[in-house]
Amino acid sequence: MKIFVTRALPEIIKQSLANEGHIVSEWTEKRDLSPAELTDYSLANDALFSIGKNQIDKHFLTACSHLRVIALCSVGYDHVDVDEATKFGIPIGNTPGVLSKATADTAFLLIQNVARKAIYNHKEILRGNWGFFDPMANLGIELHGKTLGIYGLGRIGFELARSCRYAFDMPVIYYNRSHNERAEHELNARRVSFDELLQQSDVLSVHANLSEETEGIFDRHAFSKMKASSIFINTARGAIHNETDLQLALEEGQIWGAGLDVTHPEPMAPGNPLLAMPTVAILPHIGSATIETRMKMMQLTVENILAGLNGQRLPYCVNPKVYGVEH
Ligand code: NAP
Repeated sequence: MKIFVTRALPEIIKQSLANEGHIVSEWTEKRDLSPAELTDYSLANDALFSIGKNQIDKHFLTACSHLRVIALCSVGYDHVDVDEATKFGIPIGNTPGVLSKATADTAFLLIQNVARKAIYNHKEILRGNWGFFDPMANLGIELHGKTLGIYGLGRIGFELARSCRYAFDMPVIYYNRSHNERAEHELNARRVSFDELLQQSDVLSVHANLSEETEGIFDRHAFSKMKASSIFINTARGAIHNETDLQLALEEGQIWGAGLDVTHPEPMAPGNPLLAMPTVAILPHIGSATIETRMKMMQLTVENILAGLNGQRLPYCVNPKVYGVEH
């Protein structure tokens, strides 16, 4: 059968599909596919191996309802109309778990970068501004014993909570719709209301999925409730915070600093004022970007593609309702 991949794959991954007798074609241009291109290529194939933020919406699914499987090489699926895919009987796969540690490490990296203004200080050296030693210059914020607040304590949030607990002895509070019993048991994490999370966190890190409920929830109103000494971190999805409101909150001193691996829009414009702020660190959506993790994500995507093409249940499926059962 035929598989369309929206990026060039490492040879070993491509081979694992070809070894099963499938024909693989790849999008090799250094730009995203347009919706029309995505539809056209998918129409000529039986499976879609989707890397990047291709919009899998109702329009696409109606045109490509023949697809036997759509396997995303990501854990997030906010760019997919899952209900519509289920109606068409198309299983959607993702890659949960294998990227949790790498993404949590990115949040951990941002927390320390912001707390000690590391990226800003590096830029100052490049500008020739090392200067003379002033004991009250370049001061950051100590993390030891400070409260970590997590918005959306799931797989990635758990890994970050564990790192902060053991590295900096940080007490953990979190806001989820339901209890995370493992985090409460193993890390002594305490579930609080959204307002308590805003008011009590010294570092507030976002790890929830992007949805109608979470979109734009970190706005002017939310930032105004946070501590003036607090740090806001987002490695989940940029649309969960309002970027203009974040900039204002930083300029007005409602919060102290921010670290973003995800922005809204992406890529962030090079002239965005956030990039010049001393207590802000921005990364270009590299949460899961380690060699080990990207290979594992692609291997899971291959497993989903092969299962889908063989008419088997996907091992990592976001819409199990497609099989008539919910798990
Ligand atoms: P997960 O295990 O499903 O965790 C998500 C958590 O968010 C759950 O604990 C969930 O708890 C909570 N949540 C969902 N909706 C919520 C709401 N309305 N209010 C409060 N909490 C809510 O997912 P994960 O594997 O940790 O991944 C999380 C997200 O990280 C992904 O969706 C993706 O967008 C992002 N991500 C980014 C990168 C990157 O490169 N920067 C890499 C990987 C993942 P309840 O259901 O109990 O509310």
